[in-house]
Amino acid sequence: MRSEDQLAKALGKLLRPGQVHHEEPTLSRYGRDALAPGRSFLAYQELATRPLVVVRPRSTEDVVQVVTLANRERIPIVPYGGGTGLMGGALTVQPGIVLDLSEMNRILEIQPGDRTATAQAGVVLKDLDLALQEHGLILGHDPWTVPIATVGGTISTNSLGYRGARYGSMGDQVLGLEVVLPMGDVLRLRPVPRSSTGPLLRHLFIGGEGVFGIITAATLRAFPKPEARALHAFTFPDFAAGFHAIDAMFHIGLTPALVDYGDEGDDDPTATLYLGFEGFREEVAAQEGRALLVCRDHRGQELPEAVAQEFWTTRHAIAERFAARRSAGEDLSHWVGAEETWDYVHVALPASRVLAYRDRCRDLLHRHGVRVREYGLWNQPELFSMSLSRRGTAQEDRAALAAAVDAVLMLAQDMAGSMEYVHGVGVRLAHLMEREHGQGIDVLRAIKRALDPNHILNPGKLGL
Ligand SMILES: Cc1cc2nc3c(=O)[nH]c(=O)nc-3n(C[C@H](O)[C@H](O)[C@H](O)COP(=O)(O)OP(=O)(O)OC[C@H]3O[C@@H](n4cnc5c(N)ncnc54)[C@H](O)[C@@H]3O)c2cc1C
Repeated sequence: MRSEDQLAKALGKLLRPGQVHHEEPTLSRYGRDALAPGRSFLAYQELATRPLVVVRPRSTEDVVQVVTLANRERIPIVPYGGGTGLMGGALTVQPGIVLDLSEMNRILEIQPGDRTATAQAGVVLKDLDLALQEHGLILGHDPWTVPIATVGGTISTNSLGYRGARYGSMGDQVLGLEVVLPMGDVLRLRPVPRSSTGPLLRHLFIGGEGVFGIITAATLRAFPKPEARALHAFTFPDFAAGFHAIDAMFHIGLTPALVDYGDEGDDDPTATLYLGFEGFREEVAAQEGRALLVCRDHRGQELPEAVAQEFWTTRHAIAERFAARRSAGEDLSHWVGAEETWDYVHVALPASRVLAYRDRCRDLLHRHGVRVREYGLWNQPELFSMSLSRRGTAQEDRAALAAAVDAVLMLAQDMAGSMEYVHGVGVRLAHLMEREHGQGIDVLRAIKRALDPNHILNPGKLGL
């Protein structure tokens, strides 16, 4: 392999001035994402390494040039969007090229009549949403990180946002894709609303974490800007009461645009639900009316409307703080608490098993000396989260929490669920991918070998 300098020179010849960087602090900054070393992931220090060079392509052709060179010289490439991924999907684990797509940030076309938008991969979600709003449309994907995360990054993690129960996850928004494959070919998948012409190839790249190709552009669905929105907040005496209310709403076919439910874990049994509906006026009124009855029937007590409004208007605040601290160059290794090891779990389960899972986790976690800071549901009754911590940051504390997290993830798999529904796999969950997919992991590995025989695209991710 060439030295850093030689590689930067070779890339510089293919691209224009200002597109190739190999100075500090750029290399360290782009060598990692938002997987904080303070989580209970013991392999972080041994895996994380510095990239050789950071490249900022401005066109699909630039990406082709970089991939072609990387293939010839067997240099790993890590695609990089907003760098907000929480699983280390954009973490450099083998010295190579970080392909920062932030300068591929053009919205190529908005088709109001078709309710679609085509954008380059580096477009930030908020920018796309604002552009759509000028045409009376919205983007159906609204994660906390809407002001930072990119089209390419959110497709590649199949990210989920606040309005997921109504509009789906990011993968559900994708109609067409342009992808540079690992050998440098450009694949264009036609943007059609529905098709029955064989397996939909876009699903190889939705949640693909840059392992099978680099997304350079995407055509996405857009939705009518809602005529009306209704927001409510409730408290429930215990987690189960609110769970049954949410489940009952889904059982009669309500489609809330906001379901954010949680308690204070071990500290307080009462739980709070933020609930919202949006759409055309009559629809919102009908859904809202029925939902209020259901919540009251399940011992929900309504909080002042201002509480719900405040939740909605500040829903991206954590991500805004994260972005501000990162641009100020702050150390984000322990952005939850410096004296604690912490982690979180987001599993998907059949609705009928959620409460039993919660009970089994509580006993199991207490046996491991782990404190539950929050039990929660997001978007739908099947999507269950826990925020966990353990006092101390010594190796033994981190090992104890890591073992507890693995145990609850495996329990979700054993109870007919999935170990993760929102943040992807990256390096953080790679060790459980064989258990998650069974024979399916061999199929994924065979596809990877066929498309990327030199194994240059994002090595070490997705357990491939
Ligand atoms: C405070 C905070 C709040 C968060 N809230 C949410 C939330 O509400 N919902 C949610 O889903 N997630 C959330 N996340 C996680 C994160 O925002 C998502 O995973 C998001 O989808 C990552 O987008 P990104 O552009 O930052 O991608 P990155 O982190 O840059 O990359 C993610 C993965 O995609 C790959 N990739 C990036 N661009 C491309 C491309 N063009 N082609 C191929 N592969 C590519 C990377 O290699 C990596 O594997 C949160 C993170 C933080 C820090």
